[in-house]
Amino acid sequence: MKPLAMTKLSLKSLFKAPATVAYPAIPREYFTGTRGRILIEPSTCNLCVICDVRCPTKAIKVDRKGQTWTIDRLRCIQCGACIEACPRKCLSNENRYSDPVTHKETLTVPIPFVPPAPKPKPATSAAAPTPAPAPAATPENSDAKDRPV
Ligand code: SF4
Ligand code: SF4
Repeated sequence: MKPLAMTKLSLKSLFKAPATVAYPAIPREYFTGTRGRILIEPSTCNLCVICDVRCPTKAIKVDRKGQTWTIDRLRCIQCGACIEACPRKCLSNENRYSDPVTHKETLTVPIPFVPPAPKPKPATSAAAPTPAPAPAATPENSDAKDRPV
């Protein structure tokens, strides 16, 4: 760069606002398509376990018996596989990253899903035909003679 052009650029930069921001005093805005932390809408989850099975890093654990959904955010790589696989569309990406942490911890969310009651079995009819008794064994129909001794 020629010395004159360099002086011009320096003078211009002197009166311009800085290109950087004073983070963390001024937090940066996230881009619209930022894949941030995973959120769940507990009221729509039916504990189907698909997100648990599809997660490549095993960051999600679904406990059907205890009715909880747990995520280890330090294991999550924001791949979005759980969001795509969820049949109830209750998972989403928040447009921001997780806050920094000083120790490992997981987030456990209680799921209020109530499984549907089992369908009642159809009543059996009292007049159901009873099977006919087997004919008595006779020398003609007995297979005793064919059995090995
Ligand atoms: S975004 Fe990917 S890594 Fe994170 S919990 Fe979902 S499936 Fe697992
Ligand atoms: S979050 Fe979605 S995929 Fe995961 S257990 Fe609930 S309903 Fe199933």
